[in-house]
Amino acid sequence: MSNEMSNNGMVITQSATPLPEGVHLPIYMDNHATTPMDPRVLEAMLPYFGAKFGNAASRNHAFGWEAEQAVETAREQIAKLIGATAKEIIFTSGATESNNLAIKGIAEMYRERGNHIITQVTEHKAVLDTCKKLEKQGYRVTYLPVKADGLIDLDELRNAMVTEGPEKTILVSIMYANNEIGVVQPVAEIGKLCHEKGVLFHTDAVQAVGKIPVNVQTDNIDVLSLSGHKVYGPKGVGALYVRRRNPRVQISEQINGGGHERGMRSGTLNVPGIVGLGAACEIARNEMDAEAKRETELRDYLKHKLESALDYVHVNGNMEHHLPGNLNMSFVYVEGESLLMGINDVAVSSGSACTSATLEPSYVLKALGLGDDVAHSSIRFGLGRFNTKAEVDYVADKIIDVVKKLRELSPLYEMVKEGIDLSTVEWAAH
Ligand SMILES: *Cc1c(COP(=O)(O)O)cnc(C)c1O
Repeated sequence: MSNEMSNNGMVITQSATPLPEGVHLPIYMDNHATTPMDPRVLEAMLPYFGAKFGNAASRNHAFGWEAEQAVETAREQIAKLIGATAKEIIFTSGATESNNLAIKGIAEMYRERGNHIITQVTEHKAVLDTCKKLEKQGYRVTYLPVKADGLIDLDELRNAMVTEGPEKTILVSIMYANNEIGVVQPVAEIGKLCHEKGVLFHTDAVQAVGKIPVNVQTDNIDVLSLSGHKVYGPKGVGALYVRRRNPRVQISEQINGGGHERGMRSGTLNVPGIVGLGAACEIARNEMDAEAKRETELRDYLKHKLESALDYVHVNGNMEHHLPGNLNMSFVYVEGESLLMGINDVAVSSGSACTSATLEPSYVLKALGLGDDVAHSSIRFGLGRFNTKAEVDYVADKIIDVVKKLRELSPLYEMVKEGIDLSTVEWAAH
């Protein structure tokens, strides 16, 4: 039941039942798209928007030294979280730029060694579109498929590697954890294989860093992308780890200018953003273990609650090799977009990308071999640092309620319940 109130001409629909304690609407549960800034991160950043405004490249006065000191502290904080050294951290405007810099920078630098790059189909667009661009410039790119659980097959990777000749493989770029289905790739094994074959290994670790243990040494990673706003830090700042020893990786700069960041990325540094990214990494390092445990429990609780109340639900992606806060679930016979509209006070994502002309299901879900119906009915829950059990209960109850209502209106669901095999039905053509 709901009653409508008029407030400054705006009609507000208010639920008649009071909200559970600790639940404030709207609820944010889309932490793979972005994370809210941790208040401690904001606090660390604020002085650098004010009195501490210096340019970190100003070498001859205290304003510059102060900014440079703050940047070097952040470099250490980031390096420590991933088992790197401070000198191996290059600041960028975010992970899209980091991915571009890594892939284009290596392709250009090692062009004489070979022209082959290997990636896989469920990468972020920042990797896939970069690879497509390189294909236009004459590079050969292999896009490995994934298995039904979202993991790549290591044998297929091994077989795809070219070790001699002009088509030699120079780079493998495989993400650490997927942003839609939360699946964690066997990164340490991939890196080991690359090192055995003398191929550089880049990983887009945006969703993994700060959420699960990432270590560039034990994971055999040569180049790694990360982003501020996915780890409770600010938007518009990211970093690229570039290995300095065994092997020393060289990257051709993609932005020319003052030669900042060891010549790999010119441009005046975003000092407040960098301070924020550093603070976010420090917090993650201290709190990651406890946070991962808490989020995994919440995630499993949500999954169990939905599975107990609803039939025809389908969990997408391998749940063993998985991010703590991710749950991607299909509610078959329900349109994801309709479901989202029914829970409009909850921020989650659906597996359909609404474009002007078509409603295309997510390419990640399609890559798992899911039918359009299952892909279209998927919802991505992204639990994060600030989500509570009370919120999970509210969201689960709401989803259960809306899915049941939508299915009451679904002729397909009715037919399935009556035992009709939908694959045998001949649909009239329109
Ligand atoms: C968000 C995201 C990116 C892009 O990062 P930005 O900092 O927003 O440019 C790249 N890869 C993955 C896996 C992501 O989730």
